[in-house]
Amino acid sequence: MTKEERVELAELLFPNIKHDREYYEAKYPERDLPEGAMVTRYGPSPTGSVHLGNLLSAFADMVYARQSNGSFFLRIEDTDQKRMVEGGIENITTVLKDFDILPNEGYSFGGEYGPYIQSERTEIYQTYIKDLVIQGYAYPCFMKEEEIEAIRQEQELNKTKIGIYGVYAIDRDLSLEEVREKINNKEEYVIRLKSPGDANHEIEVIDCIKGKMKFPEHNVDTVLLKKDGTPTYHFAHAIDDHLMHTTHVIRGDEWVSSLPLHVQLFQLLGFKPVRYAHIAPITIKDQETGNIRKISKRKDPWFGVKYYEENGIPIEALHLYLATITNTNFEEWYLNNPEKSISEFEFSFDKQAVGGTSFDEAKLVNLCKTYFSRKSGKEVYEETHFWATKHDTEYAKLLEENKEDMIKFFSIEKDGPRPRKDISKYSEVREEFSYAIDSLFEKEHYAKNESEKEYDTDLVLDYVNNYLDLNVDNETWFNTIKEFAVSNGYAASPKDYKNEPEKYKGHVGDICEAIRVMITGRLKSPDLFSIMKILGKDRILKRIEFYKNK
Ligand code: GLU
Repeated sequence: MTKEERVELAELLFPNIKHDREYYEAKYPERDLPEGAMVTRYGPSPTGSVHLGNLLSAFADMVYARQSNGSFFLRIEDTDQKRMVEGGIENITTVLKDFDILPNEGYSFGGEYGPYIQSERTEIYQTYIKDLVIQGYAYPCFMKEEEIEAIRQEQELNKTKIGIYGVYAIDRDLSLEEVREKINNKEEYVIRLKSPGDANHEIEVIDCIKGKMKFPEHNVDTVLLKKDGTPTYHFAHAIDDHLMHTTHVIRGDEWVSSLPLHVQLFQLLGFKPVRYAHIAPITIKDQETGNIRKISKRKDPWFGVKYYEENGIPIEALHLYLATITNTNFEEWYLNNPEKSISEFEFSFDKQAVGGTSFDEAKLVNLCKTYFSRKSGKEVYEETHFWATKHDTEYAKLLEENKEDMIKFFSIEKDGPRPRKDISKYSEVREEFSYAIDSLFEKEHYAKNESEKEYDTDLVLDYVNNYLDLNVDNETWFNTIKEFAVSNGYAASPKDYKNEPEKYKGHVGDICEAIRVMITGRLKSPDLFSIMKILGKDRILKRIEFYKNK
């Protein structure tokens, strides 16, 4: 076809498209950003629930844009309407908000480069494809499903590349008259790329994470516009990344195989190329086989982001974990800079693991414990309460009723150089501090009394009634209980007892253990005297009675 014929063809295919490319180029001008600013996007398809891998790439989008004073936007990629799930879009925005991975622009966040949802951009895509038709890089293809299927089967049999290209691309060179006739006959068509590629040539792409990669040139006439006039993902994302001025496409490496097509599309459309950063999937050591495999929806509770929300993993701790996956040197930096926040760390693609990172629950738990240990009692109270209002309303209410006490309990052993590391999730607080609330202590915790031993309640009652003074400091208290121990035939220290066991009934630690078990129901607890101070004598006595009567 001559250029004039192609202009006619384009008009025939897209009579309603009145704007030209220049209109949109002018409408979405270059961003006014400092040198080196990265513009990143999270482009989820609302086809399922959000998983850890999605969160990781959105997190990377956020940190790279933020540290370079660029922009991070959310674009909903809903080209595949058939696979959309109900509430899928809303779920995406809710997750980003809940996990504090906030785009500064995009769908439901506003911005100058929208609409940020592909289903509302059809006219834009058609404008650009109309232009490709005029350039001779796209054409209508009227092939029927059965024809395509027959070709696929033949290709499979001959073990040749699957797709419509070369001799298989029967409609590539239809004349204008032939097209007109088919359209008049109401034959359905898609618009295909007229790929100029040659699979014998190689292209090279330098990925920010994976480095130099080589591929055969793309040579398939891929569908760009579907029968209903909506684009395929491949075409839509190229137009969007261009008009939204994305500089870095950070995404899962399942897209690596599409790179030759994407690079070709950018070239044919005359767009400035984007940089790619393909993230390898998160892996995990299989419990049964011991092999490293991709983290799985079916087998691993950590796969979906729901897990983190429901179990009450603090968002900041999850961010720390995502940061350790994103850059291999983050963990060490964080250990050496406990006072600093993630935003002070400089992320770089060359510190990103090429082969992916293994999910490490112990590491996540440890980060969470460190997180909690650095929070004040009041902060632990507030955050746990906030989580409980969503996930355990009964406990939320109990927390409110016991607020003052709870803050005191959460504050025990916070001040020293090595603050207590007990909890790793909000969901653990109820059990971990069950002795702090009378009703829980009696109902839930005491049933879990960890000790098999029978303790001497008379001895403990005597101590509490006649010797315990809650208004002294820790050292004085310990001295008095030692005296009490000695006057009752117990050694003042475990060492004394060990040296001459026949001389004693036990040592001071045994008395403390008895008190601890009676008032907390457990063998280990935070500082005993601090707990006693918060409980007060009456409640201590009540608990000893409770123990006695069991
Ligand atoms: N919509 C694609 C997906 O959900 C995103 C691909 C991309 O980021 O380019 O996997």
